[in-house]
Amino acid sequence: MSDVMQLTVLGSTGSIGKSTLDVVARHPERYRVFALTAQRQDELLFAQCQQFRPRFAVLLDEAAAQRLRQRLADSGLQTEVLCGIAALEQVSAAPEVDAVMAAIVGAAGLRPTLAAARAGKKILLANKETLVMAGAVFMDAVRASGSPLLPIDSEHNAVFQSLPRNYSGEMQANGVSKILLTASGGPFRNTPLSGLHHVTPEQACAHPNWSMGKKISVDSATMMNKGLEVIEAHWLFNAPADAIEVVIHPQSVIHSLVQYVDGSVLAQLGNPDMRTPIAYALAYPERIEAGVAPLDLCKVAQLDFVAPDFERFPCLALAYQALRAGGTAPAILNAANEVAVAAFLEKKISFLAIPRLIGDVLAALPLSPVKALEDVLAADARARDKATALLPEVVLA
Ligand code: NAD
Ligand code: MG
Repeated sequence: MSDVMQLTVLGSTGSIGKSTLDVVARHPERYRVFALTAQRQDELLFAQCQQFRPRFAVLLDEAAAQRLRQRLADSGLQTEVLCGIAALEQVSAAPEVDAVMAAIVGAAGLRPTLAAARAGKKILLANKETLVMAGAVFMDAVRASGSPLLPIDSEHNAVFQSLPRNYSGEMQANGVSKILLTASGGPFRNTPLSGLHHVTPEQACAHPNWSMGKKISVDSATMMNKGLEVIEAHWLFNAPADAIEVVIHPQSVIHSLVQYVDGSVLAQLGNPDMRTPIAYALAYPERIEAGVAPLDLCKVAQLDFVAPDFERFPCLALAYQALRAGGTAPAILNAANEVAVAAFLEKKISFLAIPRLIGDVLAALPLSPVKALEDVLAADARARDKATALLPEVVLA
């Protein structure tokens, strides 16, 4: 590759965003930052603007945008500050942009990620919620524009690496029999079930192997994260629910596996460090240095595997159920989960109330087919309203 790649990083102040900029900074001859975005962290965004000199910086919060404008002006930097969702779409679809790292957390990532897909950009997809909510709409947009789509989620990146290079999206035709997603099991894998009632947000966010944003950390503790990843795998690899299996693997060294009809199982291994999938996706099909320590197998010594316990982790069962139900069910699941996780982080509901609320919302709302983005957004809004209304009923489930 000779040309410099112009990159927009959506959610640059988050865990994935920072890891992305860490890799980018190692290869200034390959990557240039066109735009950086955040919700309201103007101080960190300012520091990132100083280091990477993007053309645009976008904040969601107007007051934060005003502060950033002032600081940039005071220090003589040329970065232009924009504000709002339309600006996120603009910096994702701008003609100068070659690739977009989609690393906003939650449903807020959908619109800008879809804008990148419609504009035919190379998409580095961390925002799994886009696929969970609007998999059909998003994949249609990717196919129509020819956007190269590279998964950042470590499991899906591992699957991508373990599939044939020219995987056509037809499992059978490619001799693939199963996709095996590994899961660490989170911080409560061995906690007695009775102890889960009193779990705090701090305990839920203390992941044994990965350092991540709060929302995905809670999702990992409930294993909703793996449920969302099952749905994500369905869309990325055109795999039916029955062909996607979750395996608990506490060491997080095998990031996922692909099983073939001849009995072969291919896996991707590495230290749990998101800079590996990020570097892989940035440079694909080449390989670049990512700052990741080499894997020391003798130090790891042991790799364990156990089947997931669907009673301990009802969120995983709910996600499979939503995938099988299809239509708006995954969007409803995702929205109810976002409301539940936010309420748990604010200490308004207990840990065990999270699956209760999601199950109640799924049971309460009718499902409909998804034909367009509007169907998804309507289901998302309805599910948020329903979840908020049902919150008082599940507080201490
Ligand atoms: P994070 O909370 O650390 O960062 C989120 C970023 O999005 C921040 O820059 C924040 O400012 C921005 N943001 C939040 N709400 C926003 C809104 N309403 N509008 C615009 N911007 C908003 O999250 P993260 O851990 O980096 O995760 C980002 C995405 O990547 C998630 O979808 C997550 O599931 C996925 N992911 C993360 C990891 C990981 O290791 N952290 C691994 C796999 C997948
Ligand atoms: Mg993952």
